Amino acid sequence: MDKQRKLIIAGNWKMNKTVSDAADLVGQLKIDLGKLTELDVVVCPPFTALAEVSRLLRDGTMRVGAQNMSEHSYGAHTGEIAAGMLKDLLVRYVILGHSERRQFQQETDAQVNAKLKTALVAGLKPIVCIGETLAQREANQTESVVGTQLTGSLAGLDAAQMQETVLAYEPVWAIGTGLTATPEQAQHVHAFIRGWIAAKFDDTTARRVRIQYGGSVKPSNARELMSQPDIDGALVGGASIDAHSFIEIVRNSL
Ligand code: PEP
Repeated sequence: MDKQRKLIIAGNWKMNKTVSDAADLVGQLKIDLGKLTELDVVVCPPFTALAEVSRLLRDGTMRVGAQNMSEHSYGAHTGEIAAGMLKDLLVRYVILGHSERRQFQQETDAQVNAKLKTALVAGLKPIVCIGETLAQREANQTESVVGTQLTGSLAGLDAAQMQETVLAYEPVWAIGTGLTATPEQAQHVHAFIRGWIAAKFDDTTARRVRIQYGGSVKPSNARELMSQPDIDGALVGGASIDAHSFIEIVRNSL
């Protein structure tokens, strides 16, 4: 695929898989995807399975991500997980501001921004999620909503930090619903996001930042989505906990 940016396909396992189920899944993924270098493949298990998945993937090219982390580095934050603890498990990526957390844990752009800065300082690669609801899309507010999320979530970053950050455009109405944005709808928003980065930072930064699409990505739609000029990978939910589907999505993206 003729893109300057390396594609990144990440699986968000959400709150699924015990440690032994996770080991099973990752064992299957490794056979087909464990040595790929053409694109980056990342799996994001729940916290409880990170240590085991990390151990199983330590000798290949697949990488491990977490689904969330605290904005604080340590201390009296019961139930939270710090960036340093993730680093300790050789976790490389962390998903921040997933729409389920924005919706159900009331996570705000300011909180996502604080977590993002903590992650960058710790040397983790953040995957920052943004996207509009169906009501917002129908009210023609997609660009203003996404623009507001970008402004709040990415506040205070310098160009180098922006280039370390992966963005995931995930229309909320397409997550876990079986509804996928058409390649044209997704490309339109991705181009808007890249334009926003160029205006806020510079053209080089905009050319380098990877922007994933997320929302009911499956083997049958991956190829067409990934062939769009501004789509640089996928954040995959439901289809990432089935080995066959995730492998096919990665294969169809090559
Ligand atoms: C997600 O949770 O990030 C996601 C895109 O989910 P799904 O692929 O199931 O729509």
